[in-house]
Formats: sequence, structure tokens, C-alpha cells
Amino acid sequence: MNKRVLITGSSRGIGKAIALKLADSGFDITVHCCSNIEQAEETSNEILSKGVASHILQFDVQDRAHAKQLLEEDVEQYGPFYGIVCNAGITRDTAFPAMEEDEWDSVIHTNLDSFYNILHPLVMPMVRARKGGRIITMASVSGIIGNRGQVNYSASKGGLIAATKSLSLELAKRKITVNCVAPGLIDTGIADETLTKEIVKHIPLRRTGSVDEVAATVDFLMSDGAAYITRQVISVNGGLA
Ligand code: NDP
Repeated sequence: MNKRVLITGSSRGIGKAIALKLADSGFDITVHCCSNIEQAEETSNEILSKGVASHILQFDVQDRAHAKQLLEEDVEQYGPFYGIVCNAGITRDTAFPAMEEDEWDSVIHTNLDSFYNILHPLVMPMVRARKGGRIITMASVSGIIGNRGQVNYSASKGGLIAATKSLSLELAKRKITVNCVAPGLIDTGIADETLTKEIVKHIPLRRTGSVDEVAATVDFLMSDGAAYITRQVISVNGGLA
């Protein structure tokens, strides 16, 4: 049986690219989405066509009780995960004085509380399996250096980085590595063209990154070759920071 990996938010964007890349590397993939079940099904079918197993979990990562229930049922049915990629995330950008309560809360709940909601039910089964493992969280350059209009998002991603580093210390003796990937500006096909051109001027490599470049980094961290890498933040940002 192949090792199992869960990628949250893998119906589209960066998460989908990670799911497809890890399927190419021979992992069985649990695809996850919030509302876009059709896109999740497309991703899962693409994965199945690569000859590995795949199924879908659908829940809002903000909903702690529902996440716990579905994740525990999944582990009971298919066994513990070897790898978990906490990728699901949102932005609600606006200047801080104009930021509504919901714009703060939804970003913190989705991007940071999900660390607890996803990993807490899954870590002990992973430990008990005694096979080591890989946990990768998806932060952002914004969580390292901050960004105008993203006080909420920067706070969530900065918190995610801190949580990731602390968990890595707790799980190191179990041979479970815990790392963070921090992308810069990644082209997921929906960015505002004028704004992108402006930001690209400040990127040393003078271009946006691709979802495949982020996926390649996650694929490496998931591999046996990355067994001695833990507690790290790996930036994929064209030299932006
Ligand atoms: P997308 O908006 O393309 O996709 C987001 C994914 O997360 C979807 O699968 C979506 O599911 C899922 N999701 C969103 N909210 C929830 C929720 N409440 N519960 C469950 N699932 C949810 O995002 P990207 O691919 O652009 O980003 C992926 C990650 O990378 C995020 O954490 C983001 O912060 C980070 N990142 C992205 C950068 C970029 O330039 N794109 C730069 C730096 C970091 P559904 O399809 O069902 O809505």
C-alpha cells in the first residue's frame, strides 16, 4: 500500500498542483475542498488516472467539530496519514482602518485555527503508526515580512509559522518532520494583471512563480531525501525576501 497524504484545499490552485505532483511520486492522495466539490472531483479523477488511490473529504476547515469527525472517520477507514499538507487558506485584503470584524475573523479562523482543527485529530494516529511522517504548512512571504492591506493575513501566516516551528520540536523524536513553505507571488490565473506587473518589479527574478514550483518544493519536503529537514520555512518567492 502507498503512503497516504492529505492536502487541504486541493480542489484548485496550489493545493491541486501539490496533489497531482505527490500522486506522480506514488502517494495515495486525499483531496479536500470546502464548497467546490466538482473541481475536487476533477482533481481526484486526474489522480486516479495516475494509478494511485484518491478520495475526497469536504468540510470547512473553520468547523472544528465537523473536521474532527470526518478526519477521525477517514483514519479509521483508511489508516493514519504519512503526510499532511495544510494548504487551505484565504485572503480578505483591505487597509487596516477599514477592516471589518469578519475580515479579521474569517482569515484567522481559516488560515490559523485550521492548524489545530486539521492537525490535532491527525497527529496522534501518525505518532502511533511509528513510521515517521511529514507535516507541511503553507504560509506566505506576507507572514514573514508583512504586507500592506494584509494585517489579518500576515497575522494568520506569521502565527502558522510559529505554530509549525513549535510542533516540529514536539514531533522530532517521532521522526515526523514539520516544515513551512512560504510562497511569494504565485500565478493561479486569477491575479489582477496591473497589480501583478507592479509587484513583479520588486521581485529579483522579475516574474511570478508557478503552482508547479511550489508543488516541487512540497514534493521534495515529502520525500525520504528531506528526512533531516525540520523546523524550517522554505521560501519560494523569486528572491522577494
Ligand atoms: P485558492 O484560492 O486557489 O484555493 C484555495 C483552496 O482552499 C481551495 O481548495 C478552497 O476550497 C480551500 N479553502 C478555502 N477556504 C476554505 C475553508 N474555509 N475550508 C476548507 N477549504 C477551504 O488558493 P491558492 O492556491 O492561491 O493558495 C493556497 C495556499 O497558498 C493558501 O494558504 C494561500 O494563503 C497560500 N499562498 C498563496 C499565494 C498565491 O500567490 N496564490 C502566495 C502565498 C501563499 P474550495 O475550492 O472548495 O473553495
